[in-house]
Amino acid sequence: MMDKDRQAPVKGSLYIVATPIGNLADLSARAIEVLGAVDRIVAEDTRHSRRLLQHYALQTPMTALHEHNERELAPQLVEQLAAGSSVAMISDAGTPLISDPGYNLVRLAREAGVPVVPVPGPCALICALSASGLPTDRFIFEGFLPAKGAARRHRLEQLHGESRTLIFYESSHRIVESLQDMQAVFGDQRRAVVARELTKQFETLQGDTLAALVPWVTADPNQQKGEFVVLVQGLEPLNSDAVTPEAEQLLLVLLEELPIKKAAKLAARIMGLNKRALYDRALQLK
Ligand code: SAM
Repeated sequence: MMDKDRQAPVKGSLYIVATPIGNLADLSARAIEVLGAVDRIVAEDTRHSRRLLQHYALQTPMTALHEHNERELAPQLVEQLAAGSSVAMISDAGTPLISDPGYNLVRLAREAGVPVVPVPGPCALICALSASGLPTDRFIFEGFLPAKGAARRHRLEQLHGESRTLIFYESSHRIVESLQDMQAVFGDQRRAVVARELTKQFETLQGDTLAALVPWVTADPNQQKGEFVVLVQGLEPLNSDAVTPEAEQLLLVLLEELPIKKAAKLAARIMGLNKRALYDRALQLK
C-alpha cells in the first residue's frame, strides 16, 4: 500500500484525483505532484483537461475515458495497472465519479486488487453545502433530476417528506423549470439555496424561501447562466405536524371555497406541511 507522507505515486496504483470546479488555483499540491508523476492520466475530455495540465506545465500522456468507452477501456487499464503502471483519473471538473464517469474502472480495479488511492479536492455539492447555511449534519445528493417535466415532478414528489438537506445538480437549460417544480412540490415556504458558478467570477449563493427564490432567478437572465447546485432544506420532522399561523390563515381562506379535504391538501402543498395535521386543524376550524 501507499505511504501517505510520500508524494511519489506507487507503481500499479490508480489515483482518483479531484480537479478544480472553475478556479484553476484549486488544484491541490498533492494532485499536481501525482498528475506529474504517474505514467498516464485518463481524462473525461482530453482537450478540456489539457488546459489544466498546461497551466501547471504537466506533460503526462493522456487518454480519454468517458461514458461511451469506459466499459471497453476499463479492463485494458486494469491490466496495465496490474502490470505495474500508475494511472491517475480526472474528470472535467471536481471529483471523478460524482455525476461523472469512472465507476466501472474503480470497481474493476478494486476487484482485481489494484490499490485505488483518492486524492481529494473540489466537489461542487460539498462546496455549495458548506456555504449554504442549510443543515449539513445529514444530507442526500440526488445528482441531476430527470430532464422531462413529468418524470422530474414524480422524483420530487418522492422526495417531499425527506428530512435531510437535498442537493441537486442542474444545468442552465433547466434551472428555471426545476426550481418551479420544486416550489410546486415542496411548497412556497421551503427554504432553498441556488449556488451558481462556484469558485468562478460570477459566483452567487442566493438563499430564500422557494416562493421568493423562484421569481428572483426567473426575473434575471444572468442568474440563469452557468453551472448550478440547488440545495433544499429537508422537511423539518419536528415541525411537520405543526400548523403555522400562516398555514392556518391560508386554510381559512381555502375553506371558504373548498371542501375540507381539498382545502387541507392544497394548503399542505402550498406550505410544505403535513396534510393530516392540516386536515385535523381544518376540522376544528369548520
Ligand atoms: N464531478 C463534479 C463534482 O465533483 O462536483 C460534477 C460533475 S457534473 C457532470 C457537473 C455539474 O456539477 C454541473 O452541471 C453543476 O450542476 C455542478 N457544478 C460543477 N461545477 C460547478 C460550479 N463551479 N458551480 C456550480 N455548480 C457546479
